[in-house]
Formats: sequence, structure tokens, C-alpha cells
Amino acid sequence: IDCSLTVVGSINADITATTSRLPAAGETVGGGRLSRSPGGKGANQAAAAARLGARTRMIGAVGPDSDGRAMLEALRAAGVDTDDIAEATAETGTALIMVDAHGENQIAVCEGANAEVSLDGIEFRADEAVLTQLEISLDLIVELANHVPGFLAVNAAPALQLPAEVVDRADLIIVNECEYSQLPQLQTAKLVAVTYGAEGSALLQRGEQIAFAEAVPANPVSTVGAGDAYCAALTIGLTSGLEPERALRAANAVGAAAVEVATAQPEFDRFEMYLPTLD
Ligand code: ATP
Repeated sequence: IDCSLTVVGSINADITATTSRLPAAGETVGGGRLSRSPGGKGANQAAAAARLGARTRMIGAVGPDSDGRAMLEALRAAGVDTDDIAEATAETGTALIMVDAHGENQIAVCEGANAEVSLDGIEFRADEAVLTQLEISLDLIVELANHVPGFLAVNAAPALQLPAEVVDRADLIIVNECEYSQLPQLQTAKLVAVTYGAEGSALLQRGEQIAFAEAVPANPVSTVGAGDAYCAALTIGLTSGLEPERALRAANAVGAAAVEVATAQPEFDRFEMYLPTLD
């Protein structure tokens, strides 16, 4: 594949406490196990794209703290160009996660530096694709809709009503089943990809299904990051000229690979490895 991709989005430190049970309001539960890992939909999508072999840069912001440095390091290790990631005054975006023995969780997100992402001084080329998500301000997504000259993909997660100019301008909008049902405005969009977890995914043109691909069987360990890996892979596939169904099948294969590992930024093979053989 020959793909240049710029991801504009969030960068979070995921700080997870695993405890026997979740505390009730006002309660303290001891005996927790702590882990820190890189996350944020933007960073996860950028790391996946770079590992799949796209020339990937990220536009985002981290705080002047050790989490910020660690998040930049993780992106560079994946092969992402981090030159356009700004150092904000606020702390690095953080997701505080509690997980109990059954995998049930509670999450508090502190957006921190993600609220300071800016496009000032950033240039976009017509031959690069841009992929973004809704963990940064909607004003910034509107700015992208007005300024990106090339292919623009928007992962409408978390589900928020999108301004009409974004729906009209986006070349691709990616949502899961639940987000799709919350966003009736997507009926008029040019191209929408809907993911159905273990059922696969579909492409819809102005509300009409034009392609569907079943999921690739997997042994799920954690679905965290599956949607993000899928977004990166589908954008790469469609902008590399793959037929819609082939692009869906490749993206499903990448999503399946992502659910088989616990981390939000897994190692991936090159994109070509996930292409279905022609039948
Ligand atoms: P996330 O949990 O990361 O937010 P999401 O809800 O955005 O994910 P999903 O629909 O769960 O997105 O998954 C995205 C894609 O990953 C699916 O379309 C599918 O191709 C693949 N996938 C997810 N779960 C499974 C599974 N259990 N088995 C095989 N493939 C899966």
C-alpha cells in the first residue's frame, strides 16, 4: 500500500486499577493492581495506521508531564511522526479506569491537553487522507471539514450530533451499531461504515447498504482498541483504491487481530497481510 495519513485526535494515558469489586459512592476498596498504558482514540488510530504501513503523522496535544512524554514515546515506537503534537499547558489527557474481577468497569475521562489541540500553522496536502474522532472539540472537526483538501474520514465516536457541514463534507464516517442508531443524520452521508462487533461491518451510501463483510473469527481477549484499529485499516483500504467489500474484509481482519490482544495499541503486521485472497 502507498498511503499518507494524518490523524487529528486525542491522546490519553489510560490508568487502570483492577480490584475485586468496584467501590460504591464514598467507599474505598483496597488490594488494587495498577497499570498505565497509552490510549485515546486518536493515538490508538495513529499507532495502528503506522504499524499497518501507512506514512502516519499525528496532530494532537500532550501536557508538560511524564505521561505526555510516555505517550509520545509510544507513538514514535509505532512509527508515527509526532512533530505536529503540541505541548499544551494543561495536563495530558487521562482516562481513570476501574475494572472488577468480572471485567465490569467505571471510567472517568479528563480531557486535559486534548482541549488545546489546534490546527494553527498546520498544512494539509491533497494527497494525504485525514482521520479524526470526536474526543477533540467539534469546532476543530468543522475546521477540518472546511480546510482538508483530500480524503476526510470521521469516526463519530463518542456519539455526538455532527454539524451538517461535517456530515456533508466527510468522505467516510465510521460508527459502531450503537452510534449509528443514535445519529439519524447519517442517512444522508456520502459513505458510512457501520461496525457490528463479532458480526462484521457494512458500508452504506446515503443510507443504502452497498457492501457487507462478515467478521473474521477471533478469540477475544479485549475489545478495547478494536474499533480504532478498524478505522485506521478501513481508511487505508479505501484510499488505496480497494473495492468496498475487500476494504471491509481487510478492516475486519485487522479488528479481529486487535480483539485478540489486551492493549489498545497492539502490534500489527503490514496491511497487505490482512487482504483477503481473491476468490
Ligand atoms: P471498541 O470496543 O474498540 O470501542 P467499537 O464498538 O467501535 O469497538 P466493534 O464493532 O466492537 O467497534 O469492532 C470493530 C470491528 O472489529 C468489527 O467490525 C469487527 O470487524 C472487529 N471485531 C470486533 N469484535 C470482534 C470479535 N469478537 N470477533 C471478530 N472480530 C471482531
